[in-house]
Amino acid sequence: MLVGGVGGARFLLGVKAALGLPAVGAGPGQDRARREHEITAVVNTGDDIWLYGLRICPDLDTCMYTLGGGIDTERGWGRAGESWVVKAELARYGADPDWFGLGDRDLATHLVRTQMLRAGSPLSAVTAALCDRWQPGVRLLPATDDRCETHVVVTGVQGRRAMHFQEWWVRHRAALPASEFVLVGAEDAEPAAGVREAIAEADAVLLAPSNPVVSIGSVLAVPGVRAAVRSGPARVVGLSPIVGGRAVRGMAEACLAAIGVPCEAGAVARYYGARCAGGILDGWLVHPGDDAAVPGVAVREVPLLMTDLRASAAMARAALDLAGIPTPPQ
Ligand code: GDP
Ligand code: CA
Repeated sequence: MLVGGVGGARFLLGVKAALGLPAVGAGPGQDRARREHEITAVVNTGDDIWLYGLRICPDLDTCMYTLGGGIDTERGWGRAGESWVVKAELARYGADPDWFGLGDRDLATHLVRTQMLRAGSPLSAVTAALCDRWQPGVRLLPATDDRCETHVVVTGVQGRRAMHFQEWWVRHRAALPASEFVLVGAEDAEPAAGVREAIAEADAVLLAPSNPVVSIGSVLAVPGVRAAVRSGPARVVGLSPIVGGRAVRGMAEACLAAIGVPCEAGAVARYYGARCAGGILDGWLVHPGDDAAVPGVAVREVPLLMTDLRASAAMARAALDLAGIPTPPQ
């Protein structure tokens, strides 16, 4: 699966449930379903950022906390039972940036990650080590081990300038008119250890209903990932993150507008492209009533609102079915 943060994590819960795995946690190691099914999530790392000397990987952490039972389910990101003492203390120093929500519990993750990175471990190995604690029951792989971060080109009174995606998204709430997303560092980046192999060996590749531009788009923009998906043997099925012409939650509309893609399920599918026409999709799921004729792509209508685990699992069953993977009866 290619995934972003909140949308990706919730869909991962659904896929685990659809395959008969416990949604949260790893489940018993000898479980039959577990041996039968393995899920690898290739997680967006374009949002990653250095702040206060710490390496922060928002989408990896959202997936890890969600699947490990540590997420704040109301917010959809960050730790449950979070406190903000360090953030308040940083503010008292006037430390920059003052717009990033760094919780105390979350901070421990960033400290451990940064310490391991500084000691020379690649992000994929660090992520595996962090997952020893959280037992997500899914292999979480960063899209790349290289520093490769999404920047946004905005045009304002001061002319054209680029800023880190997090500054645009969190500080400016995606309200500054953007004209382009650039994955800075991509020219020297390659997929993280295991990513190409996972795609090449997969029986199905699912594109989560995640932000198509700055989550799935940034994963695909790591050199080698799109080619691996295109040339792999598995059917590639995506789920529309757009329902009724709107991003269900979050601000994906602003990202699509910036790259001139209409905020419609069909337009997102055409942006990914049909595999037979140089793109990556074999199948595409849209919400009932959303019209999405995409030549060369098998389109099916299925309710696509992840209101609870049952709904997410039903979406996962439909996606796996379209990809030709049988799922156990409910
Ligand atoms: P982020 O990294 O935390 O922004 O999360 P993702 O990129 O994984 O997912 C965010 C996107 O998921 C949003 O822009 C929505 O378009 C989409 N999304 C969120 N919830 C749902 C849902 O319940 N159904 C569908 N179809 N899409 C959703
Ligand atoms: Ca994200």
